[in-house]
Amino acid sequence: MIEIKNLSKTFNSKSSEVKALKNINLQINKGEIFGIIGLSGAGKSTLIRTINRLEEPTEGSIIIEGKDITKLDKTDLRNTRKEIGMIFQHFNLLSSRTVFQNIAFPLEINGYDKNYIEKRVNELLKVVELTDKKNAYPSQLSGGQKQRVAIARALADNPKILLCDEATSALDPKTTKAILNLLKKIQKEFNLTVVLITHQMEVIKEVCNRVAIIEAGKIIELNTVEEIFARPKTNTAKAFISHIHRSSEGEIIYPTTPGSTVIKLGYLGDSSKKPIISSLIRNFDIDINILSGDIDELQSTSVGNLLIQVMGNNEEKEKAFEWIKEQNIDLEVIWNG
Ligand code: ADP
Ligand code: MG
Repeated sequence: MIEIKNLSKTFNSKSSEVKALKNINLQINKGEIFGIIGLSGAGKSTLIRTINRLEEPTEGSIIIEGKDITKLDKTDLRNTRKEIGMIFQHFNLLSSRTVFQNIAFPLEINGYDKNYIEKRVNELLKVVELTDKKNAYPSQLSGGQKQRVAIARALADNPKILLCDEATSALDPKTTKAILNLLKKIQKEFNLTVVLITHQMEVIKEVCNRVAIIEAGKIIELNTVEEIFARPKTNTAKAFISHIHRSSEGEIIYPTTPGSTVIKLGYLGDSSKKPIISSLIRNFDIDINILSGDIDELQSTSVGNLLIQVMGNNEEKEKAFEWIKEQNIDLEVIWNG
């Protein structure tokens, strides 16, 4: 378990003072994939970097498996760091070394013998499915392949914790998915505790058990991923999930803003040709937020489904719903708050 207590970090320079972390308290359980999400500058990197003391906290403690790592001397810190692997947005591979040599690097530093290194690196190449790229140089690899090498390198010395700092932010959506699947696989296989920071809720949704939202150096919301999606409390949480409406299990996820109603519309035949949304907004005193559905489909004749959030007083909403039904559109109320 990782326990972060009253953690603060202030960067001081001659001309300014930046309070990057303000009294952070967090408990990350053994074997979970814990997400930290926030906008750029929120303090994510500073927070994750204090966990292996790449950044020295100004105040507070970080207790890993009962040991306060802020109190360790150099030797103990070096040993503890072996238990913590890290991967980065820009992979940080050594360009003059091959894939094999990159993965071998931490093992060489930690003084393992050649035979063991050979055996271990070959094992890791299999885990990240890069055996055929063993002798390639980083410049010959795609972004996804580079991150696989970085993951293998991070796992080389059998860490218990893996820190991921925007590990998929430089990758396209398809490669992101593949890397996230790999993270899930290795988490299970090696029973890792994974701390993952990102600015993308899609990433959190895909792999995390719990998530903390960080804003201006403070944790403003913390919960299971399901709970955050179902009942986001802060506006920041709402904004992060506003464009994602399905969980990985395929359930519909929708915002539960008090006073709003979420409805599902089913278009059939001719009704899909009509400009339903603009008519609704024009003819009724309601606001509409399109949650999901294919906008192209709205303008075509094909059958379509649309999830929308309707805001307004009940009377106006009722009138609007009646009108929708008159247009031969299926209407299902998903949520009413
Ligand atoms: P994030 O990773 O969420 O984008 P960071 O943790 O990198 O945010 O930065 C948080 C705040 O701390 C920002 O205002 C940033 O400018 C500042 N900061 C980060 N590192 C340093 C540093 N080494 N010196 C001074 N300020 C820093
Ligand atoms: Mg960062």
